[in-house]
Amino acid sequence: MLKMHIQNDKILIGRLKKGDDLLIELTKICERENIPYGKVEGIGAVSCANLGYYDQVNKRYLWNKIDDSMEVLSFIGNISIKDNKTFIHAHIVLGDESGKAVGGHLGEGTKVFAFEYIIFPFKGGKLIRDYDEDTGLFLWTL
Ligand code: ZN
Repeated sequence: MLKMHIQNDKILIGRLKKGDDLLIELTKICERENIPYGKVEGIGAVSCANLGYYDQVNKRYLWNKIDDSMEVLSFIGNISIKDNKTFIHAHIVLGDESGKAVGGHLGEGTKVFAFEYIIFPFKGGKLIRDYDEDTGLFLWTL
């Protein structure tokens, strides 16, 4: 377990533009604002999505591309460092016209219709990812 602090004096509140790639734009904001560690949450809507599901047997992501407009019902992610670069690991729950939900691991290719985010930077420690043999994932080295 790692004990860090929320940097209460620096919470970023903003919105993304229509057509932005959700994951790429949030990553750029963290890089620009020098936020290596933290958490991010948001709500909004997307015009299409790319959701991952991790196949635990074959240790690879399976991708579910959704070419439809959906509400972002829930979005939560963390910010850490992987391969010396800012890396956002985020999961998203989307709702369709009938209110049915689908969700998964956020991949590039999820396009914003409207999105409001809040980023909470952390300080007082380091969150670094490295390859984990047991899972095949890049996990925190705590
Ligand atoms: Zn994930």
